[in-house]
Amino acid sequence: MRYGFVFNIERCNGCYSCFLACKDEHTGNDHSPICAPTCEGCNLMKLNEIEYGTGSKVKVDYVNTICQQCANPACMAKYPDQVYKRPDGIVIIDPVKAKGNKDMLKACPYGAIFWNEKEQLPVKCTMCAHMLDAGEKVTRCSEVCPNQAILFGDLDDPASEISKYVAEHKDELEQLKTGLGLGPAHYYRRLPKPFICGEVICDKCGEDVKGAKVTAKSECGCVFEAETDFLGDFEVRGLPSNKEFTVTIEAAGFKTRTLTCRTNAAVNLGEIYLEKI
Ligand code: SF4
Ligand code: SF4
Repeated sequence: MRYGFVFNIERCNGCYSCFLACKDEHTGNDHSPICAPTCEGCNLMKLNEIEYGTGSKVKVDYVNTICQQCANPACMAKYPDQVYKRPDGIVIIDPVKAKGNKDMLKACPYGAIFWNEKEQLPVKCTMCAHMLDAGEKVTRCSEVCPNQAILFGDLDDPASEISKYVAEHKDELEQLKTGLGLGPAHYYRRLPKPFICGEVICDKCGEDVKGAKVTAKSECGCVFEAETDFLGDFEVRGLPSNKEFTVTIEAAGFKTRTLTCRTNAAVNLGEIYLEKI
């Protein structure tokens, strides 16, 4: 058994219900021996608002900072007497043995350990293990999300909803900092990534060009496609960072136009005029 989450960033509208439910579950509530009561200003997870893009082409996404319930936890490697892993994969900071150890915050490469000033304790997401132990099948944060952006379950059970989702969407899912070799449990869908956007316009009449084919080819040969909408706008999404791109715009009755750009961040190519044939 191994519990995990899938966070679907595309579905999250930043309502903070998960964050508030987590606070409600833990603030002032003693879930020992899993977690001591948390206090004002102490959270077990963080929701980060990420704004990217320029001008009118701006996007806002919400990505959490949360314990990844690592298979090989760096926190446990550093403090084996204060952190342990349960048979269901949940990593727990012992609220008695870890008392006073503020240095533990530095042991997590995900920045997912926070400080409980009142109890003088390092704390983090417990996956609501106290609820699971009482027979619940969900965590507080996953059950309250009104947009079903948080999927929770047993990743080792091929029949679970989460396993089926991961199998079905595996090409679109990512895990964080996998290069560290810690084996995070959680998956993310549609993490914020650079995009290339613009507006395609006819050079003769100034009308927006609908249905133009936009192809963005990276220096490493990857190809991404989009089409202009009824306002002539396009967005090529989910691009790798810091790559040179050749953007080709094709539309019936117009000369093909090619531009280049680099995805240091989101790129707004602005108004792009196509020459009528
Ligand atoms: S994400 Fe950080 S706190 Fe959580 S198990 Fe991994 S190293 Fe430990
Ligand atoms: S699983 Fe529980 S402890 Fe972890 S973030 Fe969600 S509500 Fe908080």
